[in-house]
Amino acid sequence: MEPVTNLNPLERLEAPPMLYKPSSPVEVTVIENTRLTPENYSEEIRHIVLDLKGTDYRYLEGQSMGVIAPGEDERGKPNRVRLYSIASPAMGEPENPSHVALCVKRVVFEEGQDTFYGLCSNYLCDVKPGDKVKISGPNGKRFVMPRDPEVDLLLFAAGTGIAPFRAFFMRLSGLPAEERSNIVLYYGSRRMEDHVYYNDLNNDLGNLADSKNVIHSALSRQDPKKKMHVQDRFRLEPGPVEEALKRGKFLIYICGIKGMEKGIEDVFRDIVGPDSWDQTKQEWKEKTIWNQEVY
Ligand SMILES: Cc1cc2nc3c(=O)[nH]c(=O)nc-3n(C[C@H](O)[C@H](O)[C@H](O)COP(=O)(O)OP(=O)(O)OC[C@H]3O[C@@H](n4cnc5c(N)ncnc54)[C@H](O)[C@@H]3O)c2cc1C
Repeated sequence: MEPVTNLNPLERLEAPPMLYKPSSPVEVTVIENTRLTPENYSEEIRHIVLDLKGTDYRYLEGQSMGVIAPGEDERGKPNRVRLYSIASPAMGEPENPSHVALCVKRVVFEEGQDTFYGLCSNYLCDVKPGDKVKISGPNGKRFVMPRDPEVDLLLFAAGTGIAPFRAFFMRLSGLPAEERSNIVLYYGSRRMEDHVYYNDLNNDLGNLADSKNVIHSALSRQDPKKKMHVQDRFRLEPGPVEEALKRGKFLIYICGIKGMEKGIEDVFRDIVGPDSWDQTKQEWKEKTIWNQEVY
């Protein structure tokens, strides 16, 4: 395939600037904290809804929110902020426009004899409705979703990287087909149990999938004989991406586990052609066609 060199920089919406700094956060109320993975499942991922009522907080799809866990660090300073992708569209959750959702994984890992609990994720996973949470932001201007329905959205998610794409899907829901972008989402998890927002426990994505919002799942631990990561699924079914590249007006968003971008880039290199890939990638980065948020 010829390198795409004639793309115009795509117009982006002006994302709201940081309205609340981590040093002067605003307090909001927890509305809901629901487990998205089964109780007996090893990974714990939760859907946490906060109420922004009474604040000036506003955001666009693709931005993140800062959360400051209570207490101080070992130097006696307030705990540092952690970022969480906003999982709601700019108009808020369907039941209430001031409600905003986060998708948070509890970070727990073993190191030798010790078990380490991530500070902020464990704090958030344990909050209860009515609790107050200090938030900052919004953060991030590059990952914002465009409003032009002619722009195809090529989305790649692994783990909680699905959060901003729930917001993208919800943003377009209910609009007539001609006012919606084509979305193709390649979505990787370990098993169906942690394929959050796209399984029996919560099917927010599945409910919004149709011929313009297509989801390709990849499960790495469901079947030991068929380990599939997000880049494997992309390699198997590159058709929708190839068509979008031919149409020439597209944005690429990669979100989730650090390192996932490498395998995805390998597939793009093969589609575009190894000889022109470096030049194309450079151009896509400069024009913010290639956007990644991995952590
Ligand atoms: C733009 C962006 C968006 C994000 N979106 C999401 C999201 O939607 N959902 C989500 O769940 N997460 C998201 N994250 C990750 C999130 O910000 C936090 O990094 C994550 O929740 C872990 O924070 P924590 O406070 O629980 O863990 P921390 O206490 O910060 O620990 C995290 C890591 O620090 C290291 N570490 C710290 N202390 C020790 C120690 N004593 N011994 C060994 N290792 C240690 C470990 O490597 C550990 O994995 C996002 C990050 C970014 C940058």
